[in-house]
Amino acid sequence: MKRALVLFTRDLRVRDQPALAAAAREAEQIIPAFVLDRKLLIRSCGAPNRLAFLLDCLHDLDSSLRERDAQLVVRHGDVVEETLALAQQWHATAIYMSADVTPYARLREQSLARACDQARIELRTFPGVTVVPAGELTPSGGDHYRVFTPYWRVWSEHVRSQGVWDQSASHAPRKLNAPKRQPSGPIPPLASLIAGSPSPGLQRGGERAARKQLERWLRADAAGYDALHDDLPGDGTSRLSAHLHFGCISAETLLRRNSGRPAADSFARQLCWRDFHHQVLAARPDIPHADYRPRGVRWRRDKRAAQAWREGLTGYPLVDAGMRQLAGEGFMHNRARMVVASFLTKTMQLDWRLGAAHFAHLLADADVANNVGNWQWVAGTGNDTRPNRVLNPLRQARRFDPDGEYVRRYVPELAAVPGRAVHEPWRLAPRQRRALRYPAPLVEL
Ligand code: FAD
Repeated sequence: MKRALVLFTRDLRVRDQPALAAAAREAEQIIPAFVLDRKLLIRSCGAPNRLAFLLDCLHDLDSSLRERDAQLVVRHGDVVEETLALAQQWHATAIYMSADVTPYARLREQSLARACDQARIELRTFPGVTVVPAGELTPSGGDHYRVFTPYWRVWSEHVRSQGVWDQSASHAPRKLNAPKRQPSGPIPPLASLIAGSPSPGLQRGGERAARKQLERWLRADAAGYDALHDDLPGDGTSRLSAHLHFGCISAETLLRRNSGRPAADSFARQLCWRDFHHQVLAARPDIPHADYRPRGVRWRRDKRAAQAWREGLTGYPLVDAGMRQLAGEGFMHNRARMVVASFLTKTMQLDWRLGAAHFAHLLADADVANNVGNWQWVAGTGNDTRPNRVLNPLRQARRFDPDGEYVRRYVPELAAVPGRAVHEPWRLAPRQRRALRYPAPLVEL
């Protein structure tokens, strides 16, 4: 009998899940499993938002599997050892999983492949993390695209002409044939994994939440995405990034559900950015630490300035609003991410690695490829063709938060300052300014 272990990683869904669909088609029995990776848990100990979101995803996945007569077996420890032990204990002849591009995921896959080889278990990997797998589109004479626009051109053409995945994978299997006595292993409570608590406004994780969020966004904001995706107070972007990171919904599903709609192309462009950064990371696994394009930048060291930036106390309201949104929700609007990143690296001249680490600590969607790729892009060490551009927070505020609504929402000290005056509190009368208890600008622009 062919018995398959489906190892979930960051593909936590039952719909549009190529590895699960293939196992359901090809194996007589299935054991769905997830290993809470000891090494990643240690690294993300200070990242309660990601862990809380992940646990939501696991509960939701388990409930979807139970509706299909299976259940999620959760183990704790080293992924390779635990997976292999489970596969051997249950006499699985194959392991099915999604391929991924982060340096850590690739090492994990390689050691699992070696272990499977020795144990005579077949290891099968499937696409599932990006729309177009990293490395599938390459320029002549290179192993990856370095600039976005040419990548966008070939990517769009590829998506249009090929239809990317096997369409039969898009439906969830109706029933999963799991062994009668299933291996046990429950999902641990959050408090047993970390000491800190998640941000109060953190969104809930899981495939059901992702689908609801998608439908809500399609009804309310998707048609205006073109014009509104940079509008800070409007908050009209999909807010699906954490769901995409954990694979509660596939990028392919988003592309399909959007196609033919008014702003389909602008939204597809964002998903293409995601694929772009993944193919860069696949080709340059050193970029989480090293500059993609070293430019000999000498970063300043200033602990006080870095801490003020982290706490949203720079004295620049738009920057501080972004940083407070991050702390309060485990999320930040893309335009605000660009402004705060430019402020850290270009205005304060502090190292992008410091900013990327803080984002990784708090963002529920923190993703090695997107986080590092975007930080390097803004810092001028990455794939931007205009590496010297600086985003002036006052000009950005005038364009993207003209009435100051976004700032008032996230910086309570400034909530009583009306209109656009909120962006320049230093222009208020001295008495009024002192009453605000809001810091003076930390640096000159
Ligand atoms: P939407 O506008 O609805 O876009 C849809 C999806 O497209 C997003 O969910 C995301 O998956 C993808 N996308 C959009 N913009 C980008 C982009 N610039 N790069 C890559 N993918 C994109 N995104 C992450 O998912 N994880 C990160 O760790 C991350 N770190 C960032 C750090 C910096 C300094 C900057 C400037 C951007 C970062 N981004 C990151 C990209 C972007 O800010 C978020 O993906 C976006 O804000 C998520 O909101 P949304 O889902 O509403 O996006």
